[in-house]
Amino acid sequence: MKALLLTAPSRLEFTDFPAPEPAEDEVLLRVRACGICGSDIHGWDGSTGRRRPPLIMGHEASGEILRVGRRVDRWRAGDRVTFDSTISCGQCHYCRAGQVNLCEHRRVVGVAPAEYRQHGAFAEQLVVPARILYPLPPQLSFTQAAMIEPVSIAVHAVQRVRIAPTDTAVVVGAGMIGLFVVQALRWAGARQIVAVDLAANRLQLARELGATHVLQSDAVDVAAAVAQLTGGRGADVAFEVVGVSPTLQLALATLRRGGAAVLVGNLAPQADFPLQSVVTRELTLHGSCASAGEYPLCLDLIARGVIRVEPMISAIAPLAEGAEWFEKLSAKGAAARYMKVILEP
Ligand SMILES: [Zn+2]
Ligand SMILES: [Zn+2]
Repeated sequence: MKALLLTAPSRLEFTDFPAPEPAEDEVLLRVRACGICGSDIHGWDGSTGRRRPPLIMGHEASGEILRVGRRVDRWRAGDRVTFDSTISCGQCHYCRAGQVNLCEHRRVVGVAPAEYRQHGAFAEQLVVPARILYPLPPQLSFTQAAMIEPVSIAVHAVQRVRIAPTDTAVVVGAGMIGLFVVQALRWAGARQIVAVDLAANRLQLARELGATHVLQSDAVDVAAAVAQLTGGRGADVAFEVVGVSPTLQLALATLRRGGAAVLVGNLAPQADFPLQSVVTRELTLHGSCASAGEYPLCLDLIARGVIRVEPMISAIAPLAEGAEWFEKLSAKGAAARYMKVILEP
């Protein structure tokens, strides 16, 4: 089969690679679409240490089943599917509690840290365990389905808190995940959804996708503006979707007393933290990582048009052009020009 193989840091080769064989509990997929994730870009150049070559990356994918392992009975050749980017063990304390994103033995498809090497979907074929598969609704295209992972991250984040119909929610960071958080908040029924970003074009998109208010953070005092929208009290909940000190502080500053923050972004491993403000205002902080069983819900939300993924797809290109797209996406200023690029093997 053809595969886009990471052979050395920052070097991708479109090359022949032995096709994988499904074990008895696995299925063999013909990959139809696979998105390039930000984590692939950061792993590609060796900076995170989680994409050690040789590796086929890619974990945001969809395709159809070619063949099933001997003990797989729920699936058959021809089924259109997507899969959870996290391979959970199904056995540990967290898996048994339904918190598969916290699995003690989790592996991520298309990742190779020191402990394992799990080839991914930038290839014509891929094997994955049958237990992480989900069927595609008939009206969903393969490219739409390849957006399921970022959508699930946003829906999981919104489900970390209970959204009341009277709530004002702030979303700091209107990149792709932030824009999905905005849409998930609209679905969850928040009364006011306030998107905050530096880029006017992203705020425009946030408004089109359901933000009731947008605030350009270098042009207005965001905390004061949110206070004004909430009778002087502040927001009930804030989503931090960037992950650096200034945006974390901004998100916390928009909250009312007793409010909650959901922390999704983690660009920086450490951040300055306003301890006294969190303690004295009794704020609640929730970390949110990946997703835990939200794929069927997300597939339904996309299929019904409740969450729109098309505005975030910047380009769809053949897998053979993958190396060029990694160069483009790692160039300075790329984040402002592209959201999601999807490769088709
Ligand atoms: Zn991803
Ligand atoms: Zn587990």
